[in-house]
Amino acid sequence: MAGFQGFGHDVELGPDTRLECKICWYVYDPAEGDVVWQIPLGTPFSQLPPHWTCPNCSATQDQFMVMPDE
Ligand SMILES: [Zn+2]
Repeated sequence: MAGFQGFGHDVELGPDTRLECKICWYVYDPAEGDVVWQIPLGTPFSQLPPHWTCPNCSATQDQFMVMPDE
């Protein structure tokens, strides 16, 4: 988990990559989308609109950390 900082252009996020808000631990799962922001199922994190923020605590996208696959 350590060492991941922000999202530059070179960060590779897979279409199934889940990310966790480091403020409130909300998890964005592409398989579930986001009902708060009306994000359709199957939307990768990288395809979220630029103004998307954590639906739970309004943290910006750079507050999200990649969750390693189990
Ligand atoms: Zn949050």
